[in-house]
Amino acid sequence: MPVRTRKIAKSDKRLISIVIPLYNEVESLPELYSKIKEVVRANRYNYEIIFVDDGSTDGSLEILKQLRQNDKNVKIISFRRNYGKSAALAVGFEHAKGDVIITMDADLQDDPHEIPNLLQKLDEGFDLVSGWKKKRYDPITKTIPSRIFNFVVSTLTGIKIHDFNCGLKAYRKTVAKDIKVYGELHRYLPVIAHWAGYKIGEVVVQHHPRKYGKTKFGVSRFLKGFLDLLTVMFTTRYFKRPLHLFGTLGLLIFILGFGITFYLSLLKIIENISLSNRPLFILGVMLTIVGIQFISIGLLGEMITKAYQHLETYSIKEIYLD
Ligand code: UDP
Ligand code: MG
Repeated sequence: MPVRTRKIAKSDKRLISIVIPLYNEVESLPELYSKIKEVVRANRYNYEIIFVDDGSTDGSLEILKQLRQNDKNVKIISFRRNYGKSAALAVGFEHAKGDVIITMDADLQDDPHEIPNLLQKLDEGFDLVSGWKKKRYDPITKTIPSRIFNFVVSTLTGIKIHDFNCGLKAYRKTVAKDIKVYGELHRYLPVIAHWAGYKIGEVVVQHHPRKYGKTKFGVSRFLKGFLDLLTVMFTTRYFKRPLHLFGTLGLLIFILGFGITFYLSLLKIIENISLSNRPLFILGVMLTIVGIQFISIGLLGEMITKAYQHLETYSIKEIYLD
């Protein structure tokens, strides 16, 4: 007998937490709120909006309080001073109650109308979905370095996405609760999540020019960004095996240095050629020493890693005991 199934219109029962870090964005906030409201109404989402005021001094907090008076789904966390976007996101993640967490910038550059697309991509089986500002509305001084930045990060980390630092992202609850953002590492959230074993996806999103106020990050962002890349690579990839990084480098350098000095020593012994006027000799000696130093640093790193082994955390997906 055929089984009859009744088709029920699928409604999203999930709670969606929208986390918005903001620093002096007073003009944008009312417009941002009404845009988000449009989207959650049209899609009948259960939602909360967590505004994390990162020490604004322009009256942003007062506007947020007004919004909250009419809508208790608006939550506010206000820092006593400016701690930076990563800190704001970390605290937002901590307090978010949703099954899914969406982050977006407060300056209207990210479009809340992309939320359904991000959620759809998450449902395809991804744990973190990052927006890709394929067509960007930013000055060229920002777009070109940003392209280089994204290319380098993608190549070095092996994550095939185009836009690491897009403010608009969707996270499954587990990801947001699991990964730790500190310093200025918000640029590398997809990298940190990837190394913890999560599946990262990407969707093209609409981008807008900044309407009010000005950017909070100068060109120094790129230099700092690359330094942070070293931190991220080291703490995610090589944290457990520092000797693999330093030892490999050290060995290569040592072998090169040793080869050079060995060759010069042979010349000295066999043909009695003077070493005092051979710059290559100095290079050889230097490489030998540097090589040994690198290996030693790697070994020291191993000792430190061993000592802190008990602090190591692993991201567990499922667990069945007994
Ligand atoms: N932001 C923040 N704390 C800061 C700097 C920025 O919360 O110390 C917020 C900012 O208000 C905005 C988002 O982070 O909502 C992105 O900042 P911005 O638009 O200046 O960056 P850009 O678009 O230039 O990359
Ligand atoms: Mg912006």
